[in-house]
Amino acid sequence: MDPRLQQLEMISEHISDERLGRYSEGRLEEPDLGEVEEHLLICEQCCTRLTEFDDAWGLNG
Ligand SMILES: [Zn+2]
Repeated sequence: MDPRLQQLEMISEHISDERLGRYSEGRLEEPDLGEVEEHLLICEQCCTRLTEFDDAWGLNG
């Protein structure tokens, strides 16, 4: 089996927009911070969403 598929099956839920937004702003604290960083390591989908948050802040700032 593709090891990437095994990792995907471990993901029970994705990071919410609210948490991802706070992470992008650097306002997320432990233990949420650790959970989000760990999730981002294995979830390409949430990584892509995070870059969209970062782009949004870039446009505003
Ligand atoms: Zn995810």
